[in-house]
This record gives sequence, structure tokens and C-alpha cells, in this order.
Amino acid sequence: MFTTLIRARSSLIVLRQQSILTTRHLHRSPIIKKPHTATIEILPTSHSTTSTTVGHESRQVQQQQKQQPPARRSKKDIIEFLYKNQQHPVPTGTPNTILTNCPHCIRIRKASFAATIDLSTGAYKCRTCHSKGSWNQFTKTLSKKLQVDQVDTNYQVYNSSDILGGNNDTGPRFSRPLEEIESYPSHVSSELKQTWLEQYKIDPAVLELYQVGVANYTNPTAYLEEQGEGSIESSTTECITFPQTTLTYTVGEKEEQEDEFKIETVRVKACSPDQPNDTLVLDPPTASESVSAGLFGYHTIPSDAEAVILTRREMDAMAAYQATGIPSISLPTANYQLQESVLPLVERFSKVYLWLDDDVDGQMAAERFAHKLGEPRCLLVNTNAEGDADGPRTAHQALMQDKNLLQMLQTARRLKHDEIMDFHDLREEVFREVMNPEQTAGVQSKDLPQLNAILKGHRPGELTILTGPTGSGKTTIISQLSLDYCTSGVPTLWGSFEIPNKRLAKKMLYQLSGKDLSKSPREFDIWADKFEQLPLYFLKFFSSTAIRDVLKACSHAVYAYDVRHIILDNLQFMLSQQGRSSLDRWELQDDAVAELRKFATEQDVHITLVVHPRKDANDLLDINSVFGSAKVTQEADNVVIIQKGETRRYLDIKKNRYDGTLGSVPYEFEADALKIRGLTEEEQQKFSQEKNTSFYTKFSPTGSSSMTRYPRKY
Ligand SMILES: [Zn+2]
Repeated sequence: MFTTLIRARSSLIVLRQQSILTTRHLHRSPIIKKPHTATIEILPTSHSTTSTTVGHESRQVQQQQKQQPPARRSKKDIIEFLYKNQQHPVPTGTPNTILTNCPHCIRIRKASFAATIDLSTGAYKCRTCHSKGSWNQFTKTLSKKLQVDQVDTNYQVYNSSDILGGNNDTGPRFSRPLEEIESYPSHVSSELKQTWLEQYKIDPAVLELYQVGVANYTNPTAYLEEQGEGSIESSTTECITFPQTTLTYTVGEKEEQEDEFKIETVRVKACSPDQPNDTLVLDPPTASESVSAGLFGYHTIPSDAEAVILTRREMDAMAAYQATGIPSISLPTANYQLQESVLPLVERFSKVYLWLDDDVDGQMAAERFAHKLGEPRCLLVNTNAEGDADGPRTAHQALMQDKNLLQMLQTARRLKHDEIMDFHDLREEVFREVMNPEQTAGVQSKDLPQLNAILKGHRPGELTILTGPTGSGKTTIISQLSLDYCTSGVPTLWGSFEIPNKRLAKKMLYQLSGKDLSKSPREFDIWADKFEQLPLYFLKFFSSTAIRDVLKACSHAVYAYDVRHIILDNLQFMLSQQGRSSLDRWELQDDAVAELRKFATEQDVHITLVVHPRKDANDLLDINSVFGSAKVTQEADNVVIIQKGETRRYLDIKKNRYDGTLGSVPYEFEADALKIRGLTEEEQQKFSQEKNTSFYTKFSPTGSSSMTRYPRKY
């Protein structure tokens, strides 16, 4: 079987396909992502596999050794072993020498990609821990490390595509043949190049170097608007395409052929030529979880390059490269995610300029990325150091405004440690916050603007408690709100302990489309594609879910996917198998909440914890109705209660540590879309009157603060 494949394509494809067959078909269900072990201090790098994979694969290698001429054997084995174990070889400046993870450092350093391997002998040497040895020692140590990873893990993280069941991951699932994808750059006309030079100041040579192309793709928005009128084909539009590439080591098949790194396109981002910063389509919709992850511009980097610039968008990468001559790459999506799978690609550089948007979100992301990549080699670039209101925010805007981009690089700063910060260091940050209060208020809800008026936004580092009577729709409301923030680019992790992930995902798919999709089957694929592109992840546990294990899984997701919002639904189910007496359970619960509080602060993520009330009261709930001791609500930054009022339900914000504003948000449930919506002006007035005459007077005779912000117009 291998030999036919070898004849069919270059051996690089063979290596990739073999590895996928091994890991997917034999050792895990097709919808499962690789598990990892992680703690806050000790994090794995981008490898992980099952111990059985290693054993199985060595048998395969032995079989193959008999068929191969001995001269090629060892190099091919080395490369095969690495790819099969999710180790990415990357180029060094030296021929026949590659860089890969050091098996000794793997679990100690977050990102250790430091071992060089001499491909002719298999000998390795680590530039971090200075260990060295034979190829045999390398494979033994690595296999042992990966085995330990496997044993320690009792959870898995799925993405939305895994949950929908569409991802059987046999490499990139392009919508069309690879040859066609690779021909996109040849469709760029000289008129288009001229337009781009005039409109965006991007040189034709830079467009060519980055293999920017032109292709027709279905515009999902246009398709949905034209529903019932035409076919999918009728709504295709001409798009600009940005390829995400990687380098894959290929062993020359014949003696005279050179071994080399080949450029491989793993994904294409298609954008409207008029709005090159807005993604229209990703092809394939989700990045392949197999060996290769790609980055825009990765193929442009010379093998001996020491420094690289990492930007948020393609336009910024091209602008940065054009103005400075330093190789520049951009993140896979505009979300601030530097996923574990792409980290190895960046490990070969001794200097990484993080050139993200010059606003609060972008600079916070740059700091997170620096922690991930290793602070000493990272430099943070400010595009608008003077804080001009009209100043550029991105590298491309700087190019458009004829600013000196090289100077921006030269004044890039290292990350300052908290311990040595004085006010002088903080001054700029404080200034930024003073000038941009809306940025520090957090991500705004689009579905429920009334909530923004009270909570001001969704911020990292906070703990929110959501409670409500049984059947009041706690899961529905928090799944909608989490989806709302997720579509604004907040990478989100769901720990659903009460309902299965699949049912939750279906609910969210309906909420995303805003309709009952069973009535619009033609739209299903469009929405499923959109859903798969969200930075949305789901946790699944296989055994005990002690809070320690939950936090371990969360901390892995924060590291691997830059998760910024974690939903745990719900506290009682999560801890259900633990604690003998009710006193035990209260203690367990207090401890869990304290741990979650600490985690939210330390990792700077928002945690939403769903908690049952103490008992199902017919009356309205108050802050003391939250199950457990007072500690639960004391630890929280926000407490939101779903109230079943006499006339309608409403969200009752009982605690808000950010600015103290309390109040209620009445809503209407739309059964088809499984969504809630805020009230219209008219409904709102009616509700206010009813509320005022009925339970407002009944339950809050003293006029509690929860009513103070309520708009009253009678
Ligand atoms: Zn080492």
C-alpha cells in the first residue's frame, strides 16, 4: 500500500497520510482531538500521541525497512517518526540538519523546540538543556514522555466541527482539488496588482511572494439573502485568497534527488477585494488537526532567518514585510489565538516581533503570546506610541499613513514583569485606559444590548454566577450569550456537565442561525460552516471531575487555544459524585468556587459558573438563594439571576463589581431560534408599569437598588 502511494505522490504526502491513518483509524474515534496534559507551570508542547501509536508505528517501520534500500532508510525513518508523533521538523540554516522538540525539555518548558538533529547520523543535541545522544536515545525518551502525557489525561477538548461530526480529519479537506487551490495566484491580473498598489500600497512583488490569489467562492451572506431564488453557484463572488502555508520535509525518492522542505498549502482564507480584512470563507472551514498547521507567509521566510514579525492580519504582514524587509507572518484567523498547533512553526526564530493591533485587546493578546513563546525572545510593537486619536492602529494602517515602520520595530519593547513595575511603566497603560474606557469595559453583547447598559461588557479575569429556578432556561441563556461573545472573537470553552455536548452544539447552531434549521435544510451547510469557524471548544471528561481535573483541562485549553471565556454548567453536576454528607458538599463547593475565582484572576479568563438555587421557590430569588454558603456569591464579580416574574421573565443583575450598577433585563423567548431577545420600547414600558404595580411593590417595598436604573417613563 505504501509503495503505491509513493508512486502516486511525493513522499511528503505519504508520510502525512500514514501518520493520519495510524493515529485516526487505530487509536481514537474520528471525532476526538488529541488529549494533553497540562498544568499551569508544566505544559506540553505541540505533540501528543498514544503510546500504542509509537509501538505500532515501529512495527510498520520495521516492515518498511525490509523493502527500502538501506542507504535511504535512516533519514526516512527519522522524518517518519517525527511526523507520526506530531513533531514538526523545521529548517535550520545548516543543510541536512533540522530543528525539532527536545524530548528532555518537552514537559518542562512551555515551548521548547530546541533540539537539532543531524539527518545523516540521527544524533541530536539540545541547545536549551545541552543534552545530546543517538537517534535511538531520542526515540526512546520521546516515546516515554508522550506515554506519560497519555496516562495523565482523563479529558479531551473537542472543537465545534468535531461535535457536529463533520470532521473525520484526513488532512486538509479543501472544497476543490489542491491543484486548483495552488493555481489561485496565477489568476491575479496586472490590473488587480495595480489597483492594490494604488488602493492599499502593497507592491505587486509582495503580493506575488505571499502567493495571494483570486478565486470564486460562495458568499454565505449573499447566499442566505437570496434564499429560495437561486442555487449556491449563483451567489459566488470573486475573492482575494490568502494561503496559509507550512514547510514539510520531504525525503528525496531517488539517490540524486535533494531532500528539502516543500511548501504545502494547508488552508486558504478568501476575502472580498474591497474588504480584505474581513474573512468571507475559510477553505477548509476548520484547520486540520493533523500534522500540518499553516501560517500566512510562512513559505516566504528564508531557512536561516533569525527574526520574524507576527501580525494579526494578512494585510499587516505584507505591509510589515514590505516596509522593513523582515519576514512577516499573520495569525490563522483574526481572533487572537496562537494555537498550540502553530507554535512549533515559530520556534525556529530567536526574535519574534509581536505586531498586533495597538489597542487594549491587541496589547493584552501580545502579552499572552509573549508568555507562550518565551518572553526573552519576544518584542511588542506599538503602532501608535503617541496615542494619536487618528493614528494608525495596525501595521497596514501605518503603511497607508506613510509612517516609519522600521522605527516602530526599533522601539519595540520587551514585556515588563509585574514585580518591577512602577507607575512610570504603568503610566502608558493607564493613559490608554483613560482614553479608551469603552475598550476596558469588555466585549459588548449584540443580542442583549440592555445587558451592556448594566454590566458594561464581558471582561476577562472575572467570575460570573448565573442561577435561576429549574426550567427557567439557564443553559439556553448562557449558551446564547457565550455564542454572542464568541462570534465577537472571544475563544470559548464549554464544560457541559448536565447535557451532552452534541445537544448543546445543536442548540447553539440554531441560536447562531436565529431559526429552526429543520425548517430550512438548504441553509444547514452554510450555518454549519460558520459554526465550525468559531473559536468554540467543548470539554469531555471520562472519569472523575474533581475541581483539580477541571482546572487542569481549563488550563490546557487556555494554553492550546487561547480560551478567554469558560462556561461550567453546572456546579452541582460537576461535583455530583463527590462528598458524602451535605456538609461535605458545601465545603467541596466552597473550595471549588475559590479555586475557580483564583484561576480566573491568574489566567485572566472570564468564568461563568451556572449554579442551582437552594430550592425552587415560587417567590423571586435573591442573592441568598444561590445554593451553597455565602462564599459562592462573595467570590463572584457578577451575580445574575433568572427571575420568573408574574408577567415575564427577566435577568436580575444582583452584583456587579465593575461599577456597581444593578438592574434587570426583561426578555422575550423566541422558541424557533431557541433565543431570547430584549424588549422593544413599547414592551418595555408596559413591563415597567406592570412591574411597578405588581411585584415591585410586593417584594421590594423599600425600593431596592435593583430598580434604580430601570427606565421609568409613565
Ligand atoms: Zn533539551
